[in-house]
Amino acid sequence: MLDIDLDAVAANWRRLAALTAPAECAAVVKADAYGLGAGPVVRALAAAGCRSFYVALPDEGRAVRAAVGTGPAIGVLAGYLSDARQIYQTSDLTPVLNTPLQIDGWAAGGGGRAAFVHVDSGINRLGLGPEQWQALVTGGDLGFPLAGVLSHLACADEPDHPLNRAQLAAFRGALARLPAGTRASFANSSGIFLGGDFHFGQVRPGAALYGVNPTPGRPNPMRPAVRLRGRILQVRHIDRGQAVGYGATYIAPSARKVATVAVGYADGLHRAASNRGSVLCQSHEAPIIGRVSMDMITIDVSDIPDHAARPDLWVDVIGPHRDVDAVAADCGTIGYEVLTALGRRYRRRYRGGTHDGAAGG
Ligand SMILES: *Cc1c(COP(=O)(O)O)cnc(C)c1O
Repeated sequence: MLDIDLDAVAANWRRLAALTAPAECAAVVKADAYGLGAGPVVRALAAAGCRSFYVALPDEGRAVRAAVGTGPAIGVLAGYLSDARQIYQTSDLTPVLNTPLQIDGWAAGGGGRAAFVHVDSGINRLGLGPEQWQALVTGGDLGFPLAGVLSHLACADEPDHPLNRAQLAAFRGALARLPAGTRASFANSSGIFLGGDFHFGQVRPGAALYGVNPTPGRPNPMRPAVRLRGRILQVRHIDRGQAVGYGATYIAPSARKVATVAVGYADGLHRAASNRGSVLCQSHEAPIIGRVSMDMITIDVSDIPDHAARPDLWVDVIGPHRDVDAVAADCGTIGYEVLTALGRRYRRRYRGGTHDGAAGG
């Protein structure tokens, strides 16, 4: 069972908006709002006052437009994909143009509508490089209105990394070639916490809206937005020397009490948590023993009273006492990957926002 707290998402957005005002606070809702469900999330954010959204791909943009209606801006980070040309028009999407080819394509096929341009300030992933930028600013009319200029940070979650300041200087240098007042957008979630120099006219948080800690190593300033629970299906006692799970990777060092829980890697609990992670049974911590399988995990409940670890009870896999970052650490990954891997199988319940009640099956 996956509970998604839309009030927490909205509160996180308001908090970041207050922290960054007078900059505009957009919301990145790519990958189905990081796995939480783009429709309910964008409706909750729009109700909270968010007027700009970003997605990765045009099809995601179409879904967000359907959820949010006309009005808010929707930026497409992949830029202009000419085979999806119709979607930009019909769903009123604003591409973030990343290459000279995309810029020329939009000038020809964008119907005169505005677009962002992405300048790469040092991540070397997406956006115009220095020579391409130089050619653009000296090249005269773009052929369409410029909605703004974006750049993206590589190391924002490491505040002392020298690349942060180097990228800031490079981005400022690029903007200096444009008319004053051109809208600029730089900071992702962690970038917001690097300070006001990084905010410019618009910030673009994603992960922090969904409860991932934007300041790793420091207390999480965001509210948790997801709770993933699984039901105990069976409890058994095993003797010393007996194996548990696929591959017999766990051998009981002594007599143990083992509970089998209906959550597996198909639900987003990474297989890397095998013999490493833990869950909470009525607030008692229970280590995962053996392999995480597709539909199930096995946990050691030897030290937990029978009444707190019996069939039909729910255990917390991700929740208020075991946040998404802690689960990610168990799996050797980051909260972003844990959220986007959340499966489709279980019941999703949305709380708060404009979408009270159950959804999905
Ligand atoms: C994903 C993404 C963001 C949001 O990043 P978070 O770290 O999730 O806040 C912002 N900008 C760009 C270009 C992105 O790709």
